[in-house]
Amino acid sequence: MDYSLIADTYERIESTTKRLEMTNYLVELIKQTPKELIGKVAYLTQGVLYPDFMGIEVGVAERLAIDAISKASGIKKDEVDRVWKFLGDLGLTAEKLLTESIQKRSYIDDFLSQKSLKVEKVYSIFDRMAKTSGKGSIELKVKLFSSLITEASPRDAKYIIRTATGNLRLGIGDMTFLDALAIAYGGGKDARDIVEKAYNMSSDLGLVSETIAREGLQSLKKFGITLGRPIRPMLCERLTSAKEILEKLGGEGSAEYKYDGLRIQAHISPAEISLFSRRLEKITSQFPDVVEALKNAVRVREAVVEGECVATDIYTGELLPFQVVTQRRGRKYEIKEKVEEIPVVLVLFDILFADGMTLIDLPYTERRKRLEQIVLESERIRLTHPLVTNKPEDLDRYMDEAIADGCEGLVIKSIAANSVYQAGARDFLWIKYKRDYKSELADTLDLVAVGAFAGRGRRAGTYGALLMASYDEEADVFKTVCKLGTGFDDETLARLPKIFEPYLIDHPHPRVDSKIKADYWFVPAKVQEILGAELTLSPSHTCGLGIIKKDAGLAIRFPRFTGKWRGDKAPEDATTVKEMVELYQSQLKKIN
Ligand code: ATP
Repeated sequence: MDYSLIADTYERIESTTKRLEMTNYLVELIKQTPKELIGKVAYLTQGVLYPDFMGIEVGVAERLAIDAISKASGIKKDEVDRVWKFLGDLGLTAEKLLTESIQKRSYIDDFLSQKSLKVEKVYSIFDRMAKTSGKGSIELKVKLFSSLITEASPRDAKYIIRTATGNLRLGIGDMTFLDALAIAYGGGKDARDIVEKAYNMSSDLGLVSETIAREGLQSLKKFGITLGRPIRPMLCERLTSAKEILEKLGGEGSAEYKYDGLRIQAHISPAEISLFSRRLEKITSQFPDVVEALKNAVRVREAVVEGECVATDIYTGELLPFQVVTQRRGRKYEIKEKVEEIPVVLVLFDILFADGMTLIDLPYTERRKRLEQIVLESERIRLTHPLVTNKPEDLDRYMDEAIADGCEGLVIKSIAANSVYQAGARDFLWIKYKRDYKSELADTLDLVAVGAFAGRGRRAGTYGALLMASYDEEADVFKTVCKLGTGFDDETLARLPKIFEPYLIDHPHPRVDSKIKADYWFVPAKVQEILGAELTLSPSHTCGLGIIKKDAGLAIRFPRFTGKWRGDKAPEDATTVKEMVELYQSQLKKIN
């Protein structure tokens, strides 16, 4: 398959901002792709080579790409650098310089250099580059990369370079790709549920694509848990009163402390223990102490368990807040010191797999029983302590205890017969109940920065405010909900342009829906925690536009940054439009 076919699709996708058109272009591409290649094409459109949890990236640094462009075009590195500084995009730089160098050639040269680069070749060279390390690896990578660019047409080289440097940014979310798969191979959008479930179980777009293409839609129903392959985590809905929560759960629920740390999914076998973050990255090497503690923590050969990893005070053993445990996610050479400086405990709350059996379809109480049977508690591995109750006052009392013990509040879980583990879903089977004394909103929100406004006066030279958005799951886009200018300390404020530099683009991102014109636009990437006074209707924001009132969206009054950068969340894990609408409705109920 010619790489130019993929590049054609990229070009078309870039030319539109309409989701439906993007999906249709993807459908066409998927249909034209041979079945044995569909997995690779799926990864490439997401700008990766493998699912995220494998942690293998092409990872070409800009300097290396400049070297390779220079070699392929015969143009000096300084000149490549100069054009890059001017255009601000290495892909465009390569396209321009390669076009110029072709124009200088004779017809015969031109005829001899007709380009037809295959997808297989692009992928295999990327793969070799990704897996090359150690002495001499830089030289080898430059050689491989420049030979690839030499074989590519200028237009194809543009996308090859963007992919290799991690700047493809087509704006296709995983969910849009799943839609396209459902249409291309499942008979229509109705098949999306089945496709999405398989994706939730495997977290692997390539595998899902290949399976549906080769074996058909029904084969996706067989997806179970495989050790070493993370499953997408089940999430909580939120409600603001104990009474409302118990009503929603059918009168009774099981309350657990909501620990304020990093979620970890641990895959345990005698041969290997792997830890995955909430975003499904492999984080095993950052928590060698957790791995060690887990070695003796389960009574079965193989298991997948989930819990919250919380930092503890080195002297008192008390639980410390989220910001502390995130410091454990540092650079490789610091890990040893960090392990000593910041001890952690893993508090387990669920079990998804044990000895060859997928347990996610069992109700909560059954899974809980298994968890208690299997796990041996220790200083570093603990279990949550559920309180099953039908009384709101019990929940409020337990909430006080949780706060006093350094937790964020409670997660109250359904104990009904249908209380299965819903991978990748946010549903009322788990309801979080948080107390935030500082805020009138019952909970913090996690929003994505999609743009910024130039600072004036004291803020000249940095941003005056950020444009924040929530995630619309249905449309797979980000919708604006407030401007955020408070809550930043001076140092963070000064660093904002630097922090967002890697994400800066000169137009609104195709997945951003905004009526407001920002001075700067970003690729949706960074998630921040925000407190607010309340939600109001607003004609200028697009979050929930038209849902509650015609021509009005939702906005947050007095939004304030809490200082928490939610690096453990992907932009798609931000507070959703649906949640915002529910929050607004529950606010109305309280007033009435
Ligand atoms: P928040 O923003 O409120 O910290 P979140 O957005 O990360 O939460 P939610 O679905 O809103 O995710 O809340 C669930 C998170 O709470 C889980 O992902 C997990 O990390 C954490 N957690 C802590 N204690 C528990 C528990 N006992 N049971 C389930 N999740 C828990």
